[in-house]
Amino acid sequence: MEVRVSDVKKWSGREEATDIVAPWPAEAQSRVDFPLIDPARVKVLVRNTGGGTLVVELSGTVEAEAVCSRCAEPFRIELPFEATEEFREETGPNDETLDYSRFTGDKIQLDNMVADAAGASFPIAVLCRPDCQGLCPVCGTNWNESTCDCAPPSDDRWAELKKLMNHDQDELGRENHGRTKA
Ligand SMILES: [Zn+2]
Ligand SMILES: [Zn+2]
Repeated sequence: MEVRVSDVKKWSGREEATDIVAPWPAEAQSRVDFPLIDPARVKVLVRNTGGGTLVVELSGTVEAEAVCSRCAEPFRIELPFEATEEFREETGPNDETLDYSRFTGDKIQLDNMVADAAGASFPIAVLCRPDCQGLCPVCGTNWNESTCDCAPPSDDRWAELKKLMNHDQDELGRENHGRTKA
């Protein structure tokens, strides 16, 4: 994925907008846990701010075949992303210690910039919907679809349950064998 800058780099103050529709670069897929859906649609604005500097602004939407981290249902996620980066016409490899990237010639390579922006748009916990109810930790019922009669897994309930189990253990052998589950 790249943008032609042969014209915009000639005049300070000039800007050029481009819409790119292309397959996702491999770098983008490597930053995301879910299969990305082609094509990537990216709006690119290149501004010549003078002194051999081009500012690249890009925005777009990334779609992927995601799996909800709460209820484990597959769903299609759609996330907006945007990024701004400065490029200077200089020879030499990119240098991590600089706050700009380098380019030479008539094109700027955008694979890394697009990959970083799209990858960063994914939240740590991917949810099928903000209020996803998740799965019952006891019986596995999907709480978005139905309910179950299991005790809610709150700390207090567990404390009560443990008390009961200890009690049963104490009683075991003296009266009721059937009350303690194997
Ligand atoms: Zn969910
Ligand atoms: Zn349940």
